[in-house]
Amino acid sequence: MVSRVIPVDPFDLVIFGGTGDLAKRKILPGLFIRFRAGQMPEDSRIIGAARADLDDAGFRKMAQAALTEFVARDKLDAEVMGRFLQRLHYVSIDATGEGGWTELAGLMRPGVVRAFYFSVAPSLFGDLAERLHAHGIAEPQSRIVVEKPFGRDLASAEALNAVLAAHFDERQIYRIDHYLGKETVQNLMAVRFANILFEPVWNAQYVDHVQITVAETVGVGGRGSYYDKSGAMRDMVQNHMMQLLCLIAMEPPYKFDPNAVRDEKLKVIRALEPVPPEDIVRGQYRGVPGKDGRDGKAEPSYVEDVGDPQSRTESYIALKVRVANWRWQGTPFYLRTGKKLRGRTSEIAIVFKEAPHSLFGENESWKANVLTIRLQPNEGMNLSVMIKEPGPGGMRLTDVPLDMSFADALGEEGTDIPDAYERLIMDVIRGNQTLFMRGDEVEAAWAWTDPIIKGWEERGDRPRGYDPYSSGPEDALMLLHRDGRRWREIRE
Ligand code: NAP
Repeated sequence: MVSRVIPVDPFDLVIFGGTGDLAKRKILPGLFIRFRAGQMPEDSRIIGAARADLDDAGFRKMAQAALTEFVARDKLDAEVMGRFLQRLHYVSIDATGEGGWTELAGLMRPGVVRAFYFSVAPSLFGDLAERLHAHGIAEPQSRIVVEKPFGRDLASAEALNAVLAAHFDERQIYRIDHYLGKETVQNLMAVRFANILFEPVWNAQYVDHVQITVAETVGVGGRGSYYDKSGAMRDMVQNHMMQLLCLIAMEPPYKFDPNAVRDEKLKVIRALEPVPPEDIVRGQYRGVPGKDGRDGKAEPSYVEDVGDPQSRTESYIALKVRVANWRWQGTPFYLRTGKKLRGRTSEIAIVFKEAPHSLFGENESWKANVLTIRLQPNEGMNLSVMIKEPGPGGMRLTDVPLDMSFADALGEEGTDIPDAYERLIMDVIRGNQTLFMRGDEVEAAWAWTDPIIKGWEERGDRPRGYDPYSSGPEDALMLLHRDGRRWREIRE
């Protein structure tokens, strides 16, 4: 199968924070891969902007080092890299000062798409938006891209939205949630809405419950001080996991159009019930002394990693979430995410109800059907179905997976899945907002999150300890056990 690459229109993309970590690790490599694939026209330009005193040559050198580090070796053709680097320019600008803006205005070309990537701290969004307008750089068709974290509560998200809305229309604002750029996440919509098979059973009558797991093996490590101000609820649940939940729970949009899709997601968020304390389990990973650690090395605990013995921030959270609408009445969504867990797994499991009548008598291996959507590792889907165990000796049943690994089903194309950033940046240039969060969606997600966080802060709850590389705190197991269910295994 040959992948179709449709080139986007020529563009000038300014990356504010062009020398930062995100630009080096994701934005520049993503653009390079799209350039290599022939999707980024040769006459497009990428303009790095930051305070550092660099010129074009210095920025290209920095970019070359970043590409060498973060792009797979087999994709680093020297000739393509040379042509790509020629598309790069640099302007030294302080978002809060006046220097450099006239130079930037002089660089922008008429008649091409203009996009401004705010890859800087959110506290600078207002300064950037204001100056882009004051210097006549932003046009009515220009786009701005902003990154997470989009606020740390409802009030700060509203304030950020207001700062952007003062200078840009909602149709110009692209709020990135890179989970939405993942191939499997989009495939979830294709599977639901392009097949007759699933939609009739996609409701509380047939779905027993849904599990969404995002497990990481790494601790908070070097970003401890940032993470400790956030925690798993703000860092993962309010944004990424909420988006996954929305795509599973939403009604079919009337068409695949940005606002039609986002309207349906918003309705789901508004239908989320408040979560009572007994449906929340927070955890913090413990440390391990040298003699007991992996390879004989000591494992620091969460509080050691963040350098605050009193920290009550969670590195793990599990929640039972209810969507209060007709479709999902009585079907809980169990969410869990954490650091230093047994395996690195992101998956959604739709666990169906058991068949209503046991035609084959008591059968120990009888299992409910489960549709699993794997985000990592090995993006793909899997539907477990019951069949007869082969051979004579009566009607014994066993479950087998109908496995659709993209790599197996689609060959080379299945393994060559674009990184979320590649896709999302190209969508910005195309002017397609479907995979970006709308301002009201973000605010609704915070309106649901705020009381949950406030609740445990007011109660003074302490997170439960859990062993590194385990499945999380014991209490999280109970969250499902008491409902007669169990978490899916987190594989190493
Ligand atoms: P970073 O490594 O600290 O880089 C910040 C960038 O902003 C640098 O290029 C810095 O260059 C520039 N900058 C700082 N103050 C400035 C000013 N007053 N005027 C103009 N430029 C200024 O941060 P990052 O990790 O790239 O993150 C950027 C944004 O993306 C943050 O909002 C972060 O939360 C978000 N994000 C990052 C990641 C990630 O993986 N890194 C993931 C998701 C979201 P100078 O100091 O030279 O000005």
